[in-house]
Amino acid sequence: MELIDILSLSYNELMEEIILMGEPKFRTKQIFAWLHEKKVTSFSEMTTLSLQFRERLEKKFCINRLKIVKRLASSIDNTVKYLYQLSDGNYIETVWMEYHHGVSVCLSTQVGCRMGCKFCASTIAGFVRNLTPGEILLQIYEAERDMGKSIDSIVLMGIGEPLDNYDNVIAFLKILSDQRGRGMSLRHVTLSTCGIVPKIYELANDARGITLSISLHSPTDDKRNEIMPVNRSYNISQVLEAAKVFFKETGRRVTFEYAVIEDINSAEKDVDALAGILCGMQCHVNLIPVNPIAERSFHGKRSTTVRFKELLEKYGINATIRRTLGSDIEAACGQLRRNAIENG
Ligand code: SAH
Repeated sequence: MELIDILSLSYNELMEEIILMGEPKFRTKQIFAWLHEKKVTSFSEMTTLSLQFRERLEKKFCINRLKIVKRLASSIDNTVKYLYQLSDGNYIETVWMEYHHGVSVCLSTQVGCRMGCKFCASTIAGFVRNLTPGEILLQIYEAERDMGKSIDSIVLMGIGEPLDNYDNVIAFLKILSDQRGRGMSLRHVTLSTCGIVPKIYELANDARGITLSISLHSPTDDKRNEIMPVNRSYNISQVLEAAKVFFKETGRRVTFEYAVIEDINSAEKDVDALAGILCGMQCHVNLIPVNPIAERSFHGKRSTTVRFKELLEKYGINATIRRTLGSDIEAACGQLRRNAIENG
């Protein structure tokens, strides 16, 4: 019989299994805390349970691990990039970032991605599979074990499109925020999407407190169609409408991500058009000079990005330039995994 991946179970799902085993419900609370508060890696460590019960748990469940295949530590700041191997041999990436306000991790939600954004390394080899809730959680737990400290916030901005793995991402958020386990507030979580509109509406209900970040990258449908194929399914006005509803329902200001790419979306007319479509919205624009990837000729300049920000601010739009952490360690999304696949 295949073992059940216990880290992917919500509190209630775990309780159902415990009841099926003929054990009292309160055992759930003990096990859930061992898994998500104390982050044990084996049932034998659950010392508040009888030896016999621990042995029975071992026959029914498994506590998965991720293997750290590569660990790149920046010599400029405290950024660490992990290349993890999953139990089926696939690779994913996680980035550990230290800011003055605490530690943040950037998590992957899928192996590969099917969204096809032209400037993104994660999408080049296509989509392999969704990550389970446990595999998303484990990216945090393994990094915390390795670093010997805890994280303060999470960004779902690694490999994959979180809203294309909606159910598992919601299940992950539920386990993460459950007070009987880790109890992390979703106010410390940011989810970044390329704009899967129907799921943005669902998210407003299913993940109270979360910050939504939308990858916009162009103010016009023509150009956005070219660099982000998802725009052919959900165009800019549909994305903006969803962002407005998200703000109205949650009170959380939406962030728009904009990778500034020379000769593509960085001209003054792009700033004017961007200001035009965002006018009157409660939002924030996060700019970044595009990170070059080997397979494409896109490039970004800091000076262009700074100018873009200044022009945007003249319109009264709040904008920041994303700090580039770990610039010496290939911190751009999906590059480490690409290299690992190519080098076998
Ligand atoms: N699929 C989600 C989250 C993963 S990508 C999304 O699209 O939002 C996280 C962010 O990095 C997105 O804003 C994405 O557009 C951006 N990104 C991807 N490749 C990049 C690159 N080469 N340079 C700059 N930003 C990039």
